[in-house]
Amino acid sequence: TLDVVTFGETMVLFTSEAMTPLEYSSHFSKQIGGAESNVAIGLQRLGHSVGWFSKLGNDPFGRYIHKFVRGEGVDTSRCIYTDEAPTGIFFKEKRSPSNIKVYYYRRNSAASLLSPDDLDEEYIANAKFLHITGITPALSTSCRETVFKAIEIAKRHRVKIVFDPNIRLKLWTIEKARQVLMEIAAEADIILPGLDEGELLSGRNTPEDIARFFGEEKLVIIKLGERGAYYQFGSEEGYVKGFAVPQIVDPVGAGDGFAAGVISGLLQNVPISEAVRRGNAVGAIVVGTNGDVEGLPTREELDEFLQGAAYQRD
Ligand code: ATP
Repeated sequence: TLDVVTFGETMVLFTSEAMTPLEYSSHFSKQIGGAESNVAIGLQRLGHSVGWFSKLGNDPFGRYIHKFVRGEGVDTSRCIYTDEAPTGIFFKEKRSPSNIKVYYYRRNSAASLLSPDDLDEEYIANAKFLHITGITPALSTSCRETVFKAIEIAKRHRVKIVFDPNIRLKLWTIEKARQVLMEIAAEADIILPGLDEGELLSGRNTPEDIARFFGEEKLVIIKLGERGAYYQFGSEEGYVKGFAVPQIVDPVGAGDGFAAGVISGLLQNVPISEAVRRGNAVGAIVVGTNGDVEGLPTREELDEFLQGAAYQRD
C-alpha cells in the first residue's frame, strides 16, 4: 500500500536556454513539469511510497514523462495511454529569476481526457493521503468530475485529502475557480494555499482570517514565500520562519516542494510546526536550484540542510 496517491497533468517542459524573449530563442532544454508529479517525486526522494497517474498521449513525450517519473521510483502503474490526444507541452521564458512566463500547449491534451472511469478505487482506498491540486479541475469537465469522484472514494475509505489550490488563471476565470476550489476545500482535511490564493478564495487578507475562513477543523497552512508559512488547526496556530536562501535561482516549484515536505512530516507524525518547518526547508532548497524537480532533496540532503541552515532575518 502507498503513503500518498496523486494524479494530474504532467507536461514536457521546454525552457529557453538564453534569457531572451521566447520568439528569439533557438535552444531549449527538455524537462518535465507538473505540480502533482513534482510532489510525488519530492515525497519519493524523502523515502515515502507514492503513486502518481495521468492520461498520457501515446507518443514520445508521453513515454518520456512516464519513464522519468517511474525512474524516480514513483509507482506509475495506473497511468493510461491514449491515441485520442497528444501529451501536453509548455515553454518557459526566463528573462530573469523573477521574470518567468510560461506558454501552454495543453488544451485538449491527453490528460484533459482523464475521466472518472479511469480511477481505481482500491488504489486510492489503500493510500494514507490523496493529494489533489486545483489545476486538474480546471482542465476539463471530465477532469473536474474525476477530482470529485476521487474525493468521494477517499472519503468513503477515510483517506486524508491534501489540497493545494494552485490557482491558474490562464485556465479559468476567477469566479469559476473560486466556486470549484471552495467546493474541493470543503472536502479537504489539509489545505495549502499561498497567501495570494487564500486572499482570492476567501476575500480576507491576513493568514489568521484566511485560515479561519476555511474552517477550524481543517489543517490550513498558508505559504508566505521567503517569510515561511502560517498554520492553523483548531486552537493550534503559529508562524514558522522561512530559511535564508543565498541565491534564488528558480522560484517555480517551491510550493510543490513545500507540500512534499509538509506531507512527509505528517506521515511521520511530527508536530505540525515541525512538518511546516520541513515544508519551508524543501521550498527553500527548491528555489535555490534550477528546474522544478531537480532540486528536490533526498532525506539525507534535507537532514543536512536542517542541521546547517540559517533562518530568514526579520
Ligand atoms: P509556486 O511558485 O511553486 O507556486 P507558491 O506560491 O505555492 O509557489 P511560495 O510561498 O512562493 O508558494 O513558496 C512555498 C514555500 O517555499 C514558502 O512557504 C517557503 O517555505 C519556501 N520559499 C519560497 N520562496 C522562498 C525564498 N525566497 N526564500 C526562502 N524560502 C522560500
